[in-house]
Amino acid sequence: MGLTAEQVKQKGKELGADLVGICSAQTLNENPPDPKFPQIPANISSEIKSVVAIIKRIPVGAFRARNMACVHHIDQLVLREHDKIAYRIARYLEQEGYYAFQTAAQETSWEMKRGSYGYLSTRHVAIEAGLGTLGLELNLMTHEFGPRCYTTCILTTAELAPDPKMTEQVCIGETCSRCLHSCPASAVLHWGIDKRACATVAQEYGVAALFKVFERVIAAETGEDRMKAVRNLKWFGIWQGLLRVVGAFGDCPRCLAVCPVGEDYHYLSECQREIPEKTPEKLSAGKAMAKARKAGEEIVGLSGHRIRWIGEEGYKPPKLRKAGR
Ligand code: SF4
Ligand code: SF4
Repeated sequence: MGLTAEQVKQKGKELGADLVGICSAQTLNENPPDPKFPQIPANISSEIKSVVAIIKRIPVGAFRARNMACVHHIDQLVLREHDKIAYRIARYLEQEGYYAFQTAAQETSWEMKRGSYGYLSTRHVAIEAGLGTLGLELNLMTHEFGPRCYTTCILTTAELAPDPKMTEQVCIGETCSRCLHSCPASAVLHWGIDKRACATVAQEYGVAALFKVFERVIAAETGEDRMKAVRNLKWFGIWQGLLRVVGAFGDCPRCLAVCPVGEDYHYLSECQREIPEKTPEKLSAGKAMAKARKAGEEIVGLSGHRIRWIGEEGYKPPKLRKAGR
């Protein structure tokens, strides 16, 4: 008898994954998140039969820290840990006689889109593997950790029984809108995100900052101006980013910190209750979204097949969900 899905999931947990799910490559090939730029296993290898998604939580204590560098640093540690776990799962699958490798989770496929668009959308893979659904701000939401988690996946030739996709909405939705209220860049849209606006805060020392400081050095007309541009404080941030990725990726924890979904939220409910970034404009934007949803208006973020990853059945409070209603 070949390897079973249960054996792979158990191995993933033993190796350190917090959650493990499996989906079939066929389902992913048939449901690309954006059909114009398909992030599907078939474009990586036609031999892939199953994709194993793993989730690792971000230790919730980090979101109580006043110094954001703590969250950036922990994010990077979680991502590195992910890579190790996924690599070991791929090795295990190969030892069992199957071809397997992990995705480069944080890479961008430049021939498709610019910025944060990988060969596979790991969030969508995790959703197809039954681990969660998308939130209002398009983070991956799980019942266990809300959006305070990362995901990556392993592609394999092993034919493993897939997990059923969730049809309920894990995110509370428009009536909550706490992510929108907290967002310093006003980047949270109605089941969408303004990635460029988000990057101004969440990737303060990312590639855009790098271009800007180089442009300043190149445009300087005198040696003195050039030296001023070189001694710009931004370079220190970029240096730190190159050294430890701190400041270059995942800088802004606000939409993760304030989200009330997740069994881990009780550690945060007290300290995150008030949202200092909340403004009357953000409050109105959330209310307008709730009104539009209730009225059944056309919402771009929910159009077409997108509802598949948000949850066709809508939101159920935990008590009703646990009671099976
Ligand atoms: S990461 Fe920060 S800037 Fe980006 S959507 Fe979340 S709260 Fe807004
Ligand atoms: S803060 Fe509220 S609206 Fe935003 S993702 Fe979490 S549950 Fe959904």
